[in-house]
Amino acid sequence: MTSLGIYIHIPFCLQKCLYCDFLSFLEGRKQQALYFDALKKEIAESAPECSEYEVVSVFFGGGTPTSVAPNFIEDVMRLVREKYRLAKNAEITIECNPGTADFEALKIYRKSGINRISIGLQSAKDEELKRLGRIHTLVQFEECYKNARKAGFENINVDLMSALPGQSLADWEESLNFVLSLDQKPEHISAYSLIIEEGTPFYEMYGEEKSSETGHLRVQISPLPDEDTEREMYYRTKMILGGRDYHRYEISNYATDGYECIHNKRYWQGGDYIGFGLGAASLMKGIRYNNTRDFRKYLDALLKTKQTDEGCMTTSLIREDARILDMKSQMEEFMFLGLRMIEGVSISNFKNRFGRNIEEIYADVIKELTDKDLMEKKDDMLRLTSRGIDISNYCMAKFLIDDE
Ligand code: SF4
Repeated sequence: MTSLGIYIHIPFCLQKCLYCDFLSFLEGRKQQALYFDALKKEIAESAPECSEYEVVSVFFGGGTPTSVAPNFIEDVMRLVREKYRLAKNAEITIECNPGTADFEALKIYRKSGINRISIGLQSAKDEELKRLGRIHTLVQFEECYKNARKAGFENINVDLMSALPGQSLADWEESLNFVLSLDQKPEHISAYSLIIEEGTPFYEMYGEEKSSETGHLRVQISPLPDEDTEREMYYRTKMILGGRDYHRYEISNYATDGYECIHNKRYWQGGDYIGFGLGAASLMKGIRYNNTRDFRKYLDALLKTKQTDEGCMTTSLIREDARILDMKSQMEEFMFLGLRMIEGVSISNFKNRFGRNIEEIYADVIKELTDKDLMEKKDDMLRLTSRGIDISNYCMAKFLIDDE
């Protein structure tokens, strides 16, 4: 039976962080309740098209899924169990921000079958958290982490973010070492660098175009680390976590043995997944589409439209930008995403999927990257070397196939 991942988007947050460009906003309890009604309708209505799949992972992401009443999440889990074929050992994750989930809530999540929690710490220094516009403190994180263990979570991820305003190399190492010093340290650590995204308050403060105009202001706001420091942070992460039982399995993700994130690996390995909720993305049977990002439209389509006699699905009203991936795009994605994984891409998988030889299609690129010591072949796997990983964007761009 083919396997499937389910992503469920909860777009609510208590406050918008200054760097955030995710689809998230503040909403009152009434609108949240309507959203969950719509979400449940979408999940129930989509079940028949997923009947041939076994669901191996469910991921509640956001936003802050733990900012809503836990019984909303519990209801959704019940529905997923009822309507979908959930694998016995499915990985079921909820994203959580410290200060939004107390012990009672964490117990409810556990009881509903959620077996993995991803806690957004970002930094172990309160002044850095404040500069990011995060709502929590380090003490709140510690409490949340302790409660999660007490509630029975045996698979915990902690999110950290480097290259923050005003952050030195020593500050970054302090955050890493803090996480490693936790009682029963996390099974998984994600360590991304801060990206300044357009449309965010940080873009106004640090964006390229603004930097010259507001150059004089940069004395007053904490500056971003320079490129060399950022690179050094990246190397130190590898060294510090590598020395403490974590293996890096993707550019920014580290796990102890047996705890790589099943759900995220699906994205990188090109497995099918379906996304529910506002703005959620799906990839099913070679078709990629996104749900609408318009909150009103999402609610109206699902809550006010009656299913027609012909069985017209209301979910078709919220799905947008459907695109059938042709062979060329599928090959590009296979390489582009797969090479994010440290183990690389499987040569035999490529052949099974596309009926073509990877070493024929990409002969020139593979030769060029191998000659430059950026790529290597090991048994059935083709992967980037650590030098290649360091400049992964450059390497991956090489796998875009020119249109004839
Ligand atoms: S908690 Fe996450 S999703 Fe919410 S505003 Fe902050 S970064 Fe964005």
